[in-house]
Amino acid sequence: CGIVGYVGPLSAAPSPRPVDVVLQGLSRLEYRGYDSAGVAVLDQQQVRIDKRAGKIANLREAVAGHEASDSQVAIGHTRWATHGAPTDGNAHPHRGGKNGELALVHNGIIENFAPLKAELEEQGYLFRSETDSEVAAHLVAREMEGGGTLEAAMARVVARLEGAFTLLAIHIDTPDRVVAARRNSPLVVGLGEGENFLGSDVAAFVDETREALEIGQDQIVTVTADDVSVTTFAGEAVPEPTRYTIEWD
Ligand code: GLU
Repeated sequence: CGIVGYVGPLSAAPSPRPVDVVLQGLSRLEYRGYDSAGVAVLDQQQVRIDKRAGKIANLREAVAGHEASDSQVAIGHTRWATHGAPTDGNAHPHRGGKNGELALVHNGIIENFAPLKAELEEQGYLFRSETDSEVAAHLVAREMEGGGTLEAAMARVVARLEGAFTLLAIHIDTPDRVVAARRNSPLVVGLGEGENFLGSDVAAFVDETREALEIGQDQIVTVTADDVSVTTFAGEAVPEPTRYTIEWD
């Protein structure tokens, strides 16, 4: 339903900012309705996920006391369940990979998740939810296992997915970036000073910046603290994505 992402500077000390920005963005997206919420960061080279059925207040309670991490990145989600009941376990983000080295959030529906899930289970990937979304987490993590970049892994995975999706992923091997992709589901990037934002709509980051980039249909975006690069699913660079200033009262 709602998606928020953040990438900030490498700080000397653990910082609560990535989690704070994402929780604030999720609250801004509450108007859309949702049944559960969650957030993922990296901490000490591990993926840390908090997620709860119910209101964002429940999530804030789960996170309380460990907002700070050495993460430059955070991704968050408010879920409106399509596959799997609204439980803590079915809430996003989902963990991907045999060692849980990736976290992913998904808006939309992956129509062909069932055969993909069967293929992954056969290869020993453990499923922790009943969602359609979790296949995307394991698929991207599996592509990363042979080396290569998170954006290349995302490109190979979206080629196999049918349906509607905005996906955001973070991985312990690429701690400086969030990689996102979209088809039939919206995604915008917010441009900050030494930090950048992602959202399913501009409400996700309007408290932080009014400068935005529109991400087009079938595009992949790689966001670091000081760079945003966009390609098509086919891997061609999109040299000048549409930039605009958000009007908001
Ligand atoms: N289909 C996914 C699920 O049921 C995502 C739903 C959404 O867009 O919130 O978990």
